[in-house]
Amino acid sequence: MGGSGLVVRDLSVGYGPVRALSGVSLEVPEGTVVTVLGNNGAGKSTLLRAVSRTLSFHGGAVTGGRVSLDGRRLDGLAPDRVVAAGVSQVPEGRRVFARMTVADNLRAGALGSPRSGRAAARDRVHELFPVLAERATQRAGLLSGGEQQMLAVGRALMAAPRVLLLDEPSLGLAPLMAGRIADTVREISAQGTSVLLVEQNAALALRLATRAYVLEVGEVTLSGPAADLAASDEVRRRYLGVADEDAIADADAEPAAGARRTLARWRG
Ligand code: ATP
Repeated sequence: MGGSGLVVRDLSVGYGPVRALSGVSLEVPEGTVVTVLGNNGAGKSTLLRAVSRTLSFHGGAVTGGRVSLDGRRLDGLAPDRVVAAGVSQVPEGRRVFARMTVADNLRAGALGSPRSGRAAARDRVHELFPVLAERATQRAGLLSGGEQQMLAVGRALMAAPRVLLLDEPSLGLAPLMAGRIADTVREISAQGTSVLLVEQNAALALRLATRAYVLEVGEVTLSGPAADLAASDEVRRRYLGVADEDAIADADAEPAAGARRTLARWRG
Protein backbone atom coordinates (compact mmCIF):
# COMPACT_ATOMS: atom_id res chain seq x y z
CA MET A 1 0.00 0.00 0.00
CA GLY A 2 1.30 3.47 -0.85
CA GLY A 3 1.94 6.55 1.26
CA SER A 4 5.02 7.62 3.15
CA GLY A 5 5.12 7.96 6.92
CA LEU A 6 2.64 6.20 9.16
CA VAL A 7 -0.68 5.45 7.48
CA VAL A 8 -3.75 4.04 9.22
CA ARG A 9 -6.63 2.97 6.97
CA ASP A 10 -10.15 1.97 8.01
CA LEU A 11 -8.98 0.58 11.32
CA SER A 12 -11.55 -1.15 13.50
CA VAL A 13 -10.85 -2.59 16.95
CA GLY A 14 -12.88 -4.50 19.51
CA TYR A 15 -12.43 -5.64 23.09
CA GLY A 16 -14.54 -8.77 22.92
CA PRO A 17 -18.02 -7.49 22.08
CA VAL A 18 -17.07 -3.84 22.76
CA ARG A 19 -16.40 -1.90 19.55
CA ALA A 20 -13.68 0.63 20.42
CA LEU A 21 -12.68 1.94 16.95
CA SER A 22 -14.69 1.97 13.72
CA GLY A 23 -13.09 2.70 10.35
CA VAL A 24 -10.43 5.10 11.62
CA SER A 25 -8.06 6.55 8.99
CA LEU A 26 -5.20 8.95 9.59
CA GLU A 27 -1.72 9.83 8.37
CA VAL A 28 1.44 10.94 10.13
CA PRO A 29 3.80 12.29 7.46
CA GLU A 30 7.53 12.11 8.11
CA GLY A 31 8.88 14.65 10.61
CA THR A 32 5.49 16.02 11.69
CA VAL A 33 3.52 16.09 14.93
CA VAL A 34 -0.04 14.84 14.47
CA THR A 35 -2.47 14.89 17.35
CA VAL A 36 -5.59 12.91 18.16
CA LEU A 37 -8.01 14.67 20.49
CA GLY A 38 -10.97 13.14 22.24
CA ASN A 39 -12.72 12.77 25.55
CA ASN A 40 -12.33 9.87 27.97
CA GLY A 41 -13.13 6.60 26.29
CA ALA A 42 -13.05 8.01 22.75
CA GLY A 43 -10.52 5.36 21.73
CA LYS A 44 -7.25 7.31 21.74
CA SER A 45 -5.18 4.77 23.69
CA THR A 46 -6.77 1.97 21.71
CA LEU A 47 -5.55 3.58 18.49
CA LEU A 48 -1.95 3.69 19.75
CA ARG A 49 -2.18 0.10 21.02
CA ALA A 50 -3.43 -1.02 17.61
CA VAL A 51 -0.47 0.66 15.89
CA SER A 52 2.09 -0.74 18.36
CA ARG A 53 0.42 -4.18 18.20
CA THR A 54 0.00 -4.29 21.99
CA LEU A 55 -3.79 -4.61 21.93
CA SER A 56 -3.75 -8.29 22.82
CA PHE A 57 -2.15 -7.47 26.20
CA HIS A 58 -5.36 -5.55 26.95
CA GLY A 59 -7.76 -8.17 25.62
CA GLY A 60 -8.39 -6.32 22.37
CA ALA A 61 -8.01 -7.21 18.69
CA VAL A 62 -7.97 -5.48 15.30
CA THR A 63 -11.08 -6.50 13.40
CA GLY A 64 -10.40 -4.61 10.19
CA GLY A 65 -8.17 -2.16 8.38
CA ARG A 66 -4.46 -1.66 7.85
CA VAL A 67 -1.46 0.11 9.36
CA SER A 68 1.73 0.78 7.41
CA LEU A 69 4.99 2.67 7.69
CA ASP A 70 6.42 3.90 4.39
CA GLY A 71 4.28 1.35 2.60
CA ARG A 72 5.35 -1.58 4.78
CA ARG A 73 2.50 -3.28 6.59
CA LEU A 74 2.86 -3.28 10.39
CA ASP A 75 -0.36 -5.12 11.19
CA GLY A 76 0.49 -8.76 11.59
CA LEU A 77 3.91 -8.06 13.15
CA ALA A 78 4.78 -8.93 16.76
CA PRO A 79 5.22 -5.86 19.03
CA ASP A 80 9.03 -6.14 19.08
CA ARG A 81 9.06 -6.23 15.26
CA VAL A 82 7.00 -3.04 15.19
CA VAL A 83 9.70 -1.38 17.32
CA ALA A 84 12.37 -2.77 15.01
CA ALA A 85 10.42 -1.38 12.04
CA GLY A 86 10.70 2.09 13.59
CA VAL A 87 7.64 2.70 15.79
CA SER A 88 8.07 3.14 19.58
CA GLN A 89 5.30 3.81 22.07
CA VAL A 90 5.37 5.78 25.32
CA PRO A 91 2.42 4.29 27.15
CA GLU A 92 -0.05 6.26 29.26
CA GLY A 93 0.92 6.76 32.90
CA ARG A 94 4.69 7.23 32.36
CA ARG A 95 5.49 3.67 33.29
CA VAL A 96 9.15 3.31 34.22
CA PHE A 97 10.94 0.46 35.96
CA ALA A 98 10.90 2.12 39.40
CA ARG A 99 13.52 -0.12 41.05
CA MET A 100 15.97 0.07 38.17
CA THR A 101 18.37 2.97 37.70
CA VAL A 102 17.72 5.68 35.15
CA ALA A 103 20.59 4.36 33.02
CA ASP A 104 19.22 0.81 33.11
CA ASN A 105 15.76 2.05 32.12
CA LEU A 106 17.33 3.66 29.07
CA ARG A 107 19.32 0.50 28.29
CA ALA A 108 16.10 -1.49 28.43
CA GLY A 109 14.70 0.75 25.68
CA ALA A 110 17.57 -0.16 23.39
CA LEU A 111 17.27 -3.95 23.79
CA GLY A 112 16.64 -5.41 20.39
CA SER A 113 18.09 -2.48 18.45
CA PRO A 114 21.54 -2.65 16.88
CA ARG A 115 24.38 -2.14 19.37
CA SER A 116 26.15 0.22 17.01
CA GLY A 117 23.45 2.90 17.36
CA ARG A 118 23.00 2.74 21.11
CA ALA A 119 25.62 5.29 22.20
CA ALA A 120 24.32 7.84 19.71
CA ALA A 121 20.74 7.23 20.87
CA ARG A 122 21.76 7.70 24.52
CA ASP A 123 23.64 10.92 23.68
CA ARG A 124 20.55 12.25 21.93
CA VAL A 125 18.37 11.40 24.94
CA HIS A 126 20.85 13.05 27.32
CA GLU A 127 20.91 16.15 25.13
CA LEU A 128 17.12 16.36 25.12
CA PHE A 129 16.87 15.61 28.85
CA PRO A 130 20.12 16.54 30.65
CA VAL A 131 18.55 15.56 33.99
CA LEU A 132 18.60 11.91 32.88
CA ALA A 133 22.41 12.09 32.58
CA GLU A 134 22.70 13.79 35.97
CA ARG A 135 20.50 11.16 37.63
CA ALA A 136 21.86 8.16 35.68
CA THR A 137 22.67 6.08 38.76
CA GLN A 138 19.52 6.90 40.72
CA ARG A 139 16.53 4.61 40.93
CA ALA A 140 13.84 5.75 38.52
CA GLY A 141 11.20 5.58 41.27
CA LEU A 142 12.90 8.50 43.02
CA LEU A 143 12.43 10.89 40.09
CA SER A 144 9.64 13.48 40.08
CA GLY A 145 6.56 12.85 37.94
CA GLY A 146 7.84 15.12 35.18
CA GLU A 147 11.27 13.47 35.23
CA GLN A 148 9.66 10.04 35.02
CA GLN A 149 7.76 11.24 31.94
CA MET A 150 11.07 12.39 30.45
CA LEU A 151 12.54 8.95 31.21
CA ALA A 152 9.57 7.21 29.58
CA VAL A 153 10.02 9.32 26.45
CA GLY A 154 13.80 8.86 26.57
CA ARG A 155 13.46 5.09 26.86
CA ALA A 156 11.25 5.00 23.76
CA LEU A 157 13.77 7.15 21.88
CA MET A 158 16.57 4.66 22.69
CA ALA A 159 15.24 2.46 19.88
CA ALA A 160 15.89 5.39 17.48
CA PRO A 161 12.33 5.29 16.16
CA ARG A 162 11.05 6.93 12.99
CA VAL A 163 7.68 7.43 14.68
CA LEU A 164 7.02 8.04 18.38
CA LEU A 165 3.58 7.20 19.79
CA LEU A 166 2.92 9.43 22.80
CA ASP A 167 -0.04 8.78 25.08
CA GLU A 168 -1.10 11.76 27.24
CA PRO A 169 2.38 13.04 28.09
CA SER A 170 1.03 16.07 29.99
CA LEU A 171 -1.37 14.09 32.20
CA GLY A 172 -0.98 15.05 35.86
CA LEU A 173 1.93 17.40 35.26
CA ALA A 174 2.14 21.03 36.43
CA PRO A 175 1.79 23.52 33.54
CA LEU A 176 5.49 24.41 33.58
CA MET A 177 6.55 20.77 33.29
CA ALA A 178 3.89 20.07 30.63
CA GLY A 179 5.31 23.01 28.69
CA ARG A 180 8.82 21.56 28.91
CA ILE A 181 7.62 18.21 27.62
CA ALA A 182 5.87 20.07 24.77
CA ASP A 183 9.11 21.87 23.85
CA THR A 184 10.86 18.53 23.71
CA VAL A 185 8.18 17.01 21.49
CA ARG A 186 8.73 19.91 19.08
CA GLU A 187 12.47 19.27 19.12
CA ILE A 188 12.06 15.53 18.61
CA SER A 189 10.00 16.14 15.47
CA ALA A 190 12.45 18.79 14.24
CA GLN A 191 15.15 16.11 14.47
CA GLY A 192 13.14 13.99 12.04
CA THR A 193 11.16 11.64 14.31
CA SER A 194 7.46 12.05 13.67
CA VAL A 195 5.11 12.04 16.63
CA LEU A 196 1.57 10.74 16.97
CA LEU A 197 0.37 12.55 20.07
CA VAL A 198 -2.74 11.58 21.98
CA GLU A 199 -3.84 14.29 24.39
CA GLN A 200 -6.74 15.47 26.49
CA ASN A 201 -4.97 18.83 26.82
CA ALA A 202 -6.22 20.06 23.46
CA ALA A 203 -4.74 23.54 23.79
CA LEU A 204 -1.25 22.14 24.22
CA ALA A 205 -1.67 19.51 21.51
CA LEU A 206 -3.02 21.95 18.92
CA ARG A 207 -0.08 24.29 19.52
CA LEU A 208 2.35 21.45 18.80
CA ALA A 209 0.70 19.64 15.93
CA THR A 210 0.53 20.40 12.25
CA ARG A 211 -2.55 18.23 11.77
CA ALA A 212 -5.25 17.09 14.18
CA TYR A 213 -7.99 14.49 14.30
CA VAL A 214 -10.94 14.45 16.67
CA LEU A 215 -12.05 11.03 17.83
CA GLU A 216 -15.56 10.55 19.23
CA VAL A 217 -16.80 7.17 20.39
CA GLY A 218 -14.29 5.38 18.17
CA GLU A 219 -14.80 7.41 14.99
CA VAL A 220 -12.96 10.35 13.44
CA THR A 221 -15.50 13.18 13.36
CA LEU A 222 -13.24 16.09 12.44
CA SER A 223 -9.77 16.45 10.96
CA GLY A 224 -7.63 19.11 9.35
CA PRO A 225 -4.69 21.45 9.88
CA ALA A 226 -4.28 21.99 13.64
CA ALA A 227 -4.57 25.77 13.24
CA ASP A 228 -7.96 25.38 11.50
CA LEU A 229 -9.26 23.06 14.20
CA ALA A 230 -8.01 25.39 16.92
CA ALA A 231 -10.04 28.17 15.29
CA SER A 232 -13.22 26.13 14.80
CA ASP A 233 -16.16 26.93 17.08
CA GLU A 234 -16.87 23.29 17.75
CA VAL A 235 -13.34 22.45 18.86
CA ARG A 236 -13.06 25.65 20.87
CA ARG A 237 -16.28 24.90 22.70
CA ARG A 238 -15.88 21.18 23.23
CA TYR A 239 -12.15 20.75 23.71
CA LEU A 240 -10.71 24.17 24.54
CA GLY A 241 -13.42 25.19 27.00
CA VAL A 242 -14.12 28.42 25.11
CA ALA A 243 -17.76 29.51 25.00
CA ASP A 244 -19.37 30.09 21.62
CA GLU A 245 -19.56 33.89 21.44
CA ASP A 246 -22.42 33.91 18.90
CA ALA A 247 -24.50 31.61 21.08
CA ILE A 248 -23.86 33.76 24.14
CA ALA A 249 -24.85 36.89 22.24
CA ASP A 250 -28.01 35.15 20.98
CA ALA A 251 -28.84 33.85 24.40
CA ASP A 252 -28.50 37.35 25.84
CA ALA A 253 -30.85 38.72 23.20
CA GLU A 254 -33.32 35.87 23.09
CA PRO A 255 -32.52 33.12 25.59
CA ALA A 256 -34.65 30.26 24.24
CA ALA A 257 -33.61 30.67 20.60
CA GLY A 258 -29.93 30.88 21.55
CA ALA A 259 -30.15 27.70 23.59
CA ARG A 260 -31.95 25.89 20.77
CA ARG A 261 -29.30 26.88 18.27
CA THR A 262 -26.49 25.75 20.54
CA LEU A 263 -28.21 22.43 21.13
CA ALA A 264 -28.80 21.90 17.41
CA ARG A 265 -25.11 22.48 16.73
CA TRP A 266 -24.12 20.01 19.43
CA ARG A 267 -26.39 17.40 17.93
CA GLY A 268 -25.31 18.19 14.39
P1 ATP B 1 -8.77 7.79 28.15
O1 ATP B 1 -8.43 9.18 27.82
O2 ATP B 1 -9.72 7.67 29.32
O3 ATP B 1 -7.59 6.87 28.25
P2 ATP B 1 -9.25 6.85 25.46
O4 ATP B 1 -9.75 7.84 24.48
O5 ATP B 1 -7.82 6.53 25.44
O6 ATP B 1 -9.68 7.29 26.93
P3 ATP B 1 -9.65 4.03 25.28
O7 ATP B 1 -8.97 3.75 26.58
O8 ATP B 1 -8.95 3.72 24.03
O9 ATP B 1 -10.12 5.56 25.25
O10 ATP B 1 -11.07 3.29 25.32
C1 ATP B 1 -11.95 3.20 24.20
C2 ATP B 1 -13.10 2.27 24.53
O11 ATP B 1 -12.63 0.95 24.72
C3 ATP B 1 -13.84 2.64 25.81
O12 ATP B 1 -15.19 2.33 25.62
C4 ATP B 1 -13.24 1.72 26.84
O13 ATP B 1 -14.14 1.45 27.88
C5 ATP B 1 -12.93 0.48 26.03
N1 ATP B 1 -11.74 -0.22 26.56
C6 ATP B 1 -10.50 0.28 26.69
N2 ATP B 1 -9.64 -0.65 27.19
C7 ATP B 1 -10.38 -1.77 27.37
C8 ATP B 1 -10.09 -3.08 27.86
N3 ATP B 1 -8.84 -3.41 28.22
N4 ATP B 1 -11.09 -3.97 27.90
C9 ATP B 1 -12.35 -3.64 27.53
N5 ATP B 1 -12.70 -2.43 27.06
C10 ATP B 1 -11.74 -1.50 26.98
